[in-house]
Amino acid sequence: MRPLAIFGGTFDPVHLGHLSVAWEAAELLDAEVRLMPASVPPHRPAPIANARQRVAMLRAALQKQSRLSLDTRELERGGPSYTIDTLAELRAEQGDRPLVLLIGADAYAGLPAWHRWRELFEVAHIGVLSRPGVEALPSAGLRAETAARRVEDAAALRLSPAGKVIELAVTPLEISATRIRELLAAGRDPRYLLPCGLFDDPSVLAPYRSA
Ligand code: ATP
Repeated sequence: MRPLAIFGGTFDPVHLGHLSVAWEAAELLDAEVRLMPASVPPHRPAPIANARQRVAMLRAALQKQSRLSLDTRELERGGPSYTIDTLAELRAEQGDRPLVLLIGADAYAGLPAWHRWRELFEVAHIGVLSRPGVEALPSAGLRAETAARRVEDAAALRLSPAGKVIELAVTPLEISATRIRELLAAGRDPRYLLPCGLFDDPSVLAPYRSA
């Protein structure tokens, strides 16, 4: 069965780093990929753009292609977005279909801080996306938990619904939402770091400019 991959994040704002790695992951895994904006990220300060604004940016970014789609369930649920709850809900909907949680190498290194993190492997595979400029390395505890789960070949993810870890060597793009927010706050125009659809309506990036 074709895997369903979930790429969660704050997307404050969505940028070409997100889109490019999600696209390449879809190719490498031959998977459907859903971008899933988080409502109240448990480990992070509140986003600058509100939920409606972040969804509008994602919709603008995802135009004219069908490989990547948007899933707004965490925003609709409200309250903190715990990935384990989202994946459990998807598991109930999708039966034995392989689920893959896509996370950047920086987020992966922080996995042991996630709510009920060891249970994530019971409901999904994890695809770790290479990310340049990331200093954080997985802790000994995370390495021990995942050593036996590692696979090299994406085809292995189709053989079971959950439980494997794969590194996905995507094209390194050193783009972050933090940098883009800094540029916008300084009155700069990060035109080619963002999807062009975000420039169609000048009000879309206004929250960052006035921040
Ligand atoms: P911020 O700078 O605000 O922390 P961000 O650019 O890291 O934002 P998030 O929305 O926090 O973006 O990230 C969502 C997911 O995308 C995370 O798993 C993160 O590791 C991954 N990600 C973001 N940018 C890249 C990139 N350039 N390459 C690979 N993965 C990325």
